Amino acid sequence: MARYIGMNQLTIELRASQLLTLDQIATMSGPKESCAILLGKKKENSYETEEVIPMSNKDSSEVRFTMDENELLKIYEYAVLSNTSVVGIFHSHPSKPFPSETDKTFMEINPIPWIIKSTITDEMRCFIFSDSSKGKIDGIEEIKMIIVKG
Ligand SMILES: [Zn+2]
Repeated sequence: MARYIGMNQLTIELRASQLLTLDQIATMSGPKESCAILLGKKKENSYETEEVIPMSNKDSSEVRFTMDENELLKIYEYAVLSNTSVVGIFHSHPSKPFPSETDKTFMEINPIPWIIKSTITDEMRCFIFSDSSKGKIDGIEEIKMIIVKG
């Protein structure tokens, strides 16, 4: 059972259509973990999503995911061209929507919002490793997802 502490001040903003895309990405991969990259802009305390890009899970596994380096490289190039940055990492779990021990390790290396969708409960939650939570359990905090029209 993952432990986490309280809500962070940060929020992540997604359009309803982007939320639907994430749902579809998770549903299509079934019990296997799916993953996606969210591109957008960080404005003050909010990460604003502009684009959801489905990624293939190289591991093709129910317990972990690895993004393809070449796909990632292309996304980073595209991000530069579209003047955006990676504002979130999405993946699904055929279990509860909380970070695994492996997730936590990578969350510390990539301290941006991590959205996890449970394909068993359909719940979606978002977490971040943050400086403000340093010294607290795992350094992981939940962040609020704001869904806007569109
Ligand atoms: Zn995970």
